[in-house]
Amino acid sequence: MTTSPVAAVVAMRAYRAGRSPRIVQQELGVADADRLASNESPYGPLPSVIEALSKATESVNRYPGVRAVDLISEIARQHNIDVENVIAGPGSAGVLWQLATAYLGADRHMVSPTPSFEGYPLIAQLTGTRLTQVSLRDHTVHVSDLLDAIADDTALAVIAEPNNPTGTAVGSDALEDLIAGTRDRCLLVIDEAYVEFQAETSRSIERAMAEDHVVVLRTFSKAFGLAALRVGYAVGNSDVLSYIDRVAAPFSVTAHAEAAAIASLNHSVELAKRVGNTVAERERVADALRRDGWECLDSHTNFVFLPISDSATDIAAALERVGVITRPIAGIGLRVTIGSPQENDRFLAGLTAIAVARAGLVFH
Ligand code: PMP
Repeated sequence: MTTSPVAAVVAMRAYRAGRSPRIVQQELGVADADRLASNESPYGPLPSVIEALSKATESVNRYPGVRAVDLISEIARQHNIDVENVIAGPGSAGVLWQLATAYLGADRHMVSPTPSFEGYPLIAQLTGTRLTQVSLRDHTVHVSDLLDAIADDTALAVIAEPNNPTGTAVGSDALEDLIAGTRDRCLLVIDEAYVEFQAETSRSIERAMAEDHVVVLRTFSKAFGLAALRVGYAVGNSDVLSYIDRVAAPFSVTAHAEAAAIASLNHSVELAKRVGNTVAERERVADALRRDGWECLDSHTNFVFLPISDSATDIAAALERVGVITRPIAGIGLRVTIGSPQENDRFLAGLTAIAVARAGLVFH
């Protein structure tokens, strides 16, 4: 008999979410801090989403549809692909965890860039998979470096395109090299959590339909503003997806998540307008930062990244004291979600005040 967890889980650390206004209030006594740490949408739900949610509420005594078939049908219809080539799950992270259960393990290897989404090392730890983390160069993923890290036992290579936390993108030509270089070697996950904020039109779904080893992940958490509902999806080869789907906990996509996601897909014009506003704000914030002498990377996402490696943690702490919660990546830089114009102004003013207070110290 044993009451201990499996070794991989003992060694694993839990997912670290962005700090919440409640924690900041408890720890620092700062009320109403702005939440710019988790790359959420600043917009509340569309009226049609609220309507779909209240309708779903009327039937909470019933289980949701199996495999979120209505949502899958709508996604398939909009991308002009077959339903067999789509699966839905509890956030794109949920789909990623399922993919890990199906495709990773102690006898396997995985390749991911670093810094990148922190879920990637976690799925390797969870499954006891050997992980090679490939460092970015110039804050950008270099596809040739990822390909160099692939070994005979590699089961999975993953790329966030655009990348979190840097906001950088490799672009479609480099992605094409990655697709070609992983073909017949391992699965390739292209995690497009932020694709809607990118100027270049993604061809990944089309490519995933043509290449059996490519799985594209998308989410309703960012541009669609449904983070609390936990819903995302994958597109790819039907056999590959069937294994990823098989390991899901039953009914993992709730009726509310499914209804809200369908309603959102049917209001793409309003959502595109919101994305446009966020992109315009992102450029305004980036310009203001650069005017003030900060280095700010070109972002393809709903956040900006300041590569202030030495001072990111201190500056994030100082920003919290003026009511702005950001995400420092220790030794690498500061990631700041684009919020409402007021929230962005509060961040810019807070950062300027901190810089003035620290004048004389070199930190950027
Ligand atoms: N991939 C990337 C690159 C992300 O940044 C995130 C969220 N921070 C996710 C996946 C997970 O998003 P969700 O589970 O909400 O769909």
